[in-house]
Amino acid sequence: MNQSAAQSSFPSTPPPSHPVPLLDLSRENGPLREEILAAVESVFDSGRYVLGPQVAELEKAVADYCQVGQAVGCASGSDALILALMALDVGQGDEVIVPSFTFFATASAVWRLGATPVFADIDPATFNLDPQRVAEVVTPATKAIIPVHLFGQCADMTPLREIAKGQGLFLIEDAAQAIGARYKDRPAGGWGDIACFSFYPTKNLGGFGDAGMLTTNNAELADRLRLLAAHGMRPRYHHSLIGVNSRLDSMQAAALHVKLRRLDDWSNQRRENAADYRRRFAAAGLDSLVTLPEESAACHHVWNQFTIRITGGKRDAVRAELARRGIGSEIYYPIPLHLQECFRPLGYEAGSLPATEAAAAEVLSLPIFPGLTDVERRTVTEQLLASLQQVTAQESQAA
Ligand SMILES: *Cc1c(COP(=O)(O)O)cnc(C)c1O
Repeated sequence: MNQSAAQSSFPSTPPPSHPVPLLDLSRENGPLREEILAAVESVFDSGRYVLGPQVAELEKAVADYCQVGQAVGCASGSDALILALMALDVGQGDEVIVPSFTFFATASAVWRLGATPVFADIDPATFNLDPQRVAEVVTPATKAIIPVHLFGQCADMTPLREIAKGQGLFLIEDAAQAIGARYKDRPAGGWGDIACFSFYPTKNLGGFGDAGMLTTNNAELADRLRLLAAHGMRPRYHHSLIGVNSRLDSMQAAALHVKLRRLDDWSNQRRENAADYRRRFAAAGLDSLVTLPEESAACHHVWNQFTIRITGGKRDAVRAELARRGIGSEIYYPIPLHLQECFRPLGYEAGSLPATEAAAAEVLSLPIFPGLTDVERRTVTEQLLASLQQVTAQESQAA
């Protein structure tokens, strides 16, 4: 029986009167409208649109926020990853260990520099790199590891640092989703040789377009990153390195600086939303029907995503039913990187990374953004339960 026939044969609960979006940026940006426009206006008036004083001010503020010595602005989180690898001389013949359960840029940066991404499987409880699996794929050609702090929770940095130290490897944090997160009281961004941040609008600190930043405690590396992000040019028209054009512009920096002051408040709201979902799901009995995301004891999670698992092959049907009921959700990420067509030459196949493949088949991210209301969290809980019941009923009728 096809799905629409199945659906029409059931008296279904009407959609809620108030749909809940996966993300509503207007709730964080709207109240700051005047303040952000004033900051942008000051850049307009200054005439210094690229690498102006606002960029240096934001770099200082982000370095302080992440408790690191240096921060260097760049054009995006993807560029930050490429610049970090360039600064560490990663290239042809080098292998870099990355998760496969992440956004594409983590691995494409490695490939773009002529190096080989080597995928390691994840810990199913946290969705982050499993240090054991990382240790297993280290070879004499391995040059670096890029742990991703996925969904706002730090990877297991102590064992990863031990592996890196023991084998003489660089550690690059992909902290694009985790500004403000902590692992054992040290913020994300302070654990690797270099860390990469993104200020893409949907990240926890989101700009008004593309923007990114790198952090490091090594002043020499910071200088090299700064040089690489500006054509390797210093002084003007003298090029000591072959760099790229990846500068952070002043308008983004000015707006992001206004938003940085609210980041902790927003992170707390995300944490409260997660705690509230946990209570509500338990009260509704949903905690035995879906798998809730875990916050590991060593981590302060900032919940860029609240990602549940729906097993039994029901995930896509539940997502469709949620959409019909006006509840936004998303699948991060439906196709693991090791199974992407562009990485076929690397020789991975289905079954290569079982925990990653299971996650890709089961995950579903629900609304968690700051400003999500009590009523909306209740609506998401109720509609998720109703959607699961509907899909289960349809399946048993079809059987
Ligand atoms: C968003 C993201 C990036 C890329 O950042 P952009 O600013 O969009 O280029 C890289 N890695 C991860 C894990 C991300 O979530």
